[in-house]
Amino acid sequence: MTAGRARLYLTLVLAVACGAAALALAAYKLGREAGASAALMPTAPPSARVGAEPVEDQGALMAATPPAGEASEAPRAAASFLACGDILLARTPGARAEAYGYRYLFRNVRDLISSADFAFANLESPASYLGKPYPGKPENVTFRADPAALFGLAWAGFDIVSLANNHINDYGPRALAETLDYLDLLGVARAGAGRDAEEARRPAIVERGGVRVAVLAYAEPIWSVVEARSSAAYRAATRSERRAAASSGEPFDPVPAGLLPLADGSLPGSGARPDAAGSSRAGLAVARLEDMRADVARALSIHKPDYLFVSVHWGEEHERYPRAFQRRFGRAAIDAGATAVLGHHPHVLQSLERYGDGLIVYSLGNFVFDMAASSTYESAAVRFMLRDGRLERAEIIPIVIARYEYAPAPARGAEALEILNKLNAWSAPYGTELRVEGELGIVDF
Ligand SMILES: [Zn+2]
Repeated sequence: MTAGRARLYLTLVLAVACGAAALALAAYKLGREAGASAALMPTAPPSARVGAEPVEDQGALMAATPPAGEASEAPRAAASFLACGDILLARTPGARAEAYGYRYLFRNVRDLISSADFAFANLESPASYLGKPYPGKPENVTFRADPAALFGLAWAGFDIVSLANNHINDYGPRALAETLDYLDLLGVARAGAGRDAEEARRPAIVERGGVRVAVLAYAEPIWSVVEARSSAAYRAATRSERRAAASSGEPFDPVPAGLLPLADGSLPGSGARPDAAGSSRAGLAVARLEDMRADVARALSIHKPDYLFVSVHWGEEHERYPRAFQRRFGRAAIDAGATAVLGHHPHVLQSLERYGDGLIVYSLGNFVFDMAASSTYESAAVRFMLRDGRLERAEIIPIVIARYEYAPAPARGAEALEILNKLNAWSAPYGTELRVEGELGIVDF
């Protein structure tokens, strides 16, 4: 065997061992044409991917981040961003989708949703075949949807969902992780939950027609909200433990892969169930003022979105007015640079507050849900009309959800006016007035 052939042979064996067929072909060609032994080098060394700030892969499916410094001086195009309320694809709505097909729940709102440049909602259930029910939570409020139901979201035209809510962890980290995968495969961006804190606190970034929006999502720490934990902190901790072990001469006994010390500092035993809360770093972004401010600042500086929305799962169910925390957090988000704040969880509409150049929608109510109270079937979607980097006006679109169908539709006539009049009354204490124009409520900016 000649030296050239030996080099070629070695090159091929190593390339195949790396599992890279394309690389093998390139190496073969290079080996023949140039005899370059460097052909096995990856195109970029791994260290080249480590920057001051990890710009990670989640948004990559939706939109590539443009090269830094490519700031556009041209006037930015107008766009519309539609925000909808809570969507449950489990329990009875899930049964409807199973019986009548995944389009059924969204058939009356598809035009509304898909005509917006960006459409957003809160997805209030994991969608997976995996996982175990959250311990101690009553069965009728422990949700897990059939993954096929997610097709309905994509078919309707949703671009972005918030996963920061008190149900996304109902079947533990494996169901949550699979939900993330399904949404990624469907091309629906998501925010507010992840395999670790870094992912949960990363914005969803979506670009349409040259306009880029960022969405961050958080949940108040209510029952079964499990906060995602930091992989970076975990890696740093194990690094320092390893160093300490090395200097003490003690054997290093790392935490088993995928497991973190529990809140009380103890390690989960080898018998820890993989579906138990706390058995992995997966979870949600919890609504904390300082975290939100830091995340907004980072999102604005890294992704340079034209518009940034902050979604929060908060407040009391069935209440019409925001609590003190909602007001404080909502205003802080606008002050930090958000265009609007999108509230969820009370299952009914709550006040609107025009604050600075932004709008706080304290609760968008339900969008697809099957609750008992008739007030939870009256809702609205808010269409934000955006231009030149600012909110030009907000259009409130009254929505009714058909009982027993659980399918939302735009409200018409007297029903629409009644919803707008009520919303006007709930918003008046916050100095915010809706101008009624046909079946729409308008907040001008
Ligand atoms: Zn909720």
